[in-house]
Amino acid sequence: MKITERMSRISESATMAVSAEAGRLKATGIDVVAFGAGEPDFPTPTNIKQAAINALGDNFTKYTPAGGIPQLKDAICKYHSRYFGTNYDPSECIVCVGGKHVIFNTVAALIEDDDEVILPVPYWVTFYDVVNYHGGKCVQVATSENQGFQLTADAIEASLTPRSKLVIVNSPNNPSGAVISKREFEKIHELTSNRDIMLITDECYCRLVYDSEPFSIAAKSGAKSNVIVAGSLSKTYAMTGWRVGFALAPRELISAINKLQSHATSNVTSIAQKAAIEALTGPQDSVQEMLDEYRRRRDFAVQALNDIPGVTCAEPGGAFYVYPNFSHYFGKNGINTAMDFATQLLQQVHVALVPGEAFGTSQHVRVSYATSMHDLDRGISRIRDFVTGLA
Ligand code: PLP
Repeated sequence: MKITERMSRISESATMAVSAEAGRLKATGIDVVAFGAGEPDFPTPTNIKQAAINALGDNFTKYTPAGGIPQLKDAICKYHSRYFGTNYDPSECIVCVGGKHVIFNTVAALIEDDDEVILPVPYWVTFYDVVNYHGGKCVQVATSENQGFQLTADAIEASLTPRSKLVIVNSPNNPSGAVISKREFEKIHELTSNRDIMLITDECYCRLVYDSEPFSIAAKSGAKSNVIVAGSLSKTYAMTGWRVGFALAPRELISAINKLQSHATSNVTSIAQKAAIEALTGPQDSVQEMLDEYRRRRDFAVQALNDIPGVTCAEPGGAFYVYPNFSHYFGKNGINTAMDFATQLLQQVHVALVPGEAFGTSQHVRVSYATSMHDLDRGISRIRDFVTGLA
């Protein structure tokens, strides 16, 4: 058997690999504190689960249109309009198998061999692999920890060439939690639209912001023609396993994605679509409750990590990750990279987190605080004991 060359351009998602290793240790009875997973520790709200149960009772269990049922597309457009002031029509919307699938489909539809895709660093690992898989070339744009990993239009501009086709922006960012200000985002949009470059705005964490008002660049006048909104219900509604995401984009792109999807996956699970309608149109109190709890945890984690000698941790404005720098401890005990650090931490004190290499940096690790305060406290204590033992 010969596996295709394109498969060699990607690796297994590092975040999933860490979760798998932590799970393996747990299964042997080891008390692992898991900071690796990028998913809410809250259950899916009851009203959403009930909508799926009702759909089952109604025998809503058959194929649906590949791109999603009309009622869900309508609910998505109205939802996006209600929260962000956009004006999408259902013909500019498609329902995909999670936000990840939106990214995959969009890159498949837009990127030819050697097209350049601008990727701010740190980046969500999937962007990188999906672009490579499709033969594109990732052009990395650095951000600085000292500036809270803020992405600027100037930094993007410096990396553009005639081959630039696509910019992928993710705010709040996974893994840094950085939030791009509205003003800067508008500048980024202007830059891309002036040069006929498409702009993906990955809004996976868009409602999980702590210090500012959520917004979507798609609401900017004239933005719709080169903007692709990659939306997801996974984090906002604690629905990671349901696999519902959506794209809002120009019709031509939506119909290309629809074509691909009709052969690749067909529709998102029928009952998950019904649950998604309830999530988007039903009570939203649970979103605020989760946000309030995440904020408490963020404040705790940032303080506790910065209190460890030699560690720096920028305060994130959104999502549920912090991205501390542990390079102060490199050179000790055979630890020279974030990967070494994460490996030893898991083996020796049983704390699972994701090394920065997965996100394009080598001095940081990603700590997910979508976990209980109790685990956050004992996990960070273990990290402190581990590093001070190295000193
Ligand atoms: N975008 C970002 C930045 C993410 O972190 C994730 C999930 O971790 C996704 C998109 C996709 O989530 P899903 O496929 O569950 O909708």
